[in-house]
Amino acid sequence: MLILNPTAHTRPVLYLVIPCYNEEKVLPITAPLFLTKINALISGDLISSDSRILFVNDGSKDRTWNIIQTLSKESPYYCGISLSRNRGHQNALLAGLMEARDQCDITISIDSDGQDDINAIDEMIAAYNDGCEVVYGVRNNRDTDKRFKRITAEGYYKLLNLMGSEIVFNHADYRLLSSRVLRELAEFKEVNLFLRGMIPLVGFKSTSVYYKREERIAGESHYPLKKMLALAFDGITSLSVKPIRMITMFGVLIAFLSFIGIIWAVIGDLLGNTVSGWASTVCIICFMGGIQLLCLGVIGEYIGKIYLETKHRPRYIISERTSDTDDSL
Ligand code: UDP
Ligand code: MG
Repeated sequence: MLILNPTAHTRPVLYLVIPCYNEEKVLPITAPLFLTKINALISGDLISSDSRILFVNDGSKDRTWNIIQTLSKESPYYCGISLSRNRGHQNALLAGLMEARDQCDITISIDSDGQDDINAIDEMIAAYNDGCEVVYGVRNNRDTDKRFKRITAEGYYKLLNLMGSEIVFNHADYRLLSSRVLRELAEFKEVNLFLRGMIPLVGFKSTSVYYKREERIAGESHYPLKKMLALAFDGITSLSVKPIRMITMFGVLIAFLSFIGIIWAVIGDLLGNTVSGWASTVCIICFMGGIQLLCLGVIGEYIGKIYLETKHRPRYIISERTSDTDDSL
């Protein structure tokens, strides 16, 4: 017997949550595609007509917010919120999800640049109707990625899994979440956000749908190497304390080796085989110095994160909503 979601017998209210940062080139192309999709789903009786396309303007410096405001006047299905400054993709996405939380039955988060195939939405909704509360959009290949990004990304997923986090391979932030999952997600108060690692921790029944990730329609990626590395590091440190444990193990190993070295040196000295040994001494000092600095650095990263978490600063601040200027309200 199928266990249906409470809202599945009625048509669910869907909010598409779309973070946008400097996307003036992309939005005029992709926004109508999202609208066509929503219209098709409504006329196919798959979702409620209260469904919306919610744009989150992540402190863009170009005309993105103007475009979102214009869109919201063109169709009642478009709406938007604007953050008071750029807070980064993960925070912007969370802001959108939390905004939608009390108004919908399901959210689907999707990038604004047309890279995520909107046709996977049908399958996601079907999975929700079958009782899944989390549906991961998983890309079935990385052909459209540059070689460097493909190798580093796949290596990274493997590393995260080694570190003990249950991250879904090749899944980014294209996913369906039920309002129940969103309410639980709201209880995760951390500022060191890595949503794709947190959602598996929330639990509930989940599944994956597969899609082909396309090239960006226009504009440029906002994830240069520096930001990618920062996200990668956040991912590891927000989910796992294994690196610290590994350092401890490594410390024990080095201490053991040093102990053997000391015995060896003492015996050598007693036997009168004293060597000039300048090179080996320098090598050992450099090696130990390097290892110690590396270990201190990793521990420092965690202390830095603790410092940020203890401040409990808000993760985002909403400065405007398209509904603020809605004449109809
Ligand atoms: N984005 C955002 N804030 C940022 C950077 C990116 O809201 O500081 C949005 C961006 O507009 C896009 C999504 O996050 O909708 C993914 O970004 P992008 O396409 O640049 O990343 P990539 O697909 O290259 O990993
Ligand atoms: Mg993209």
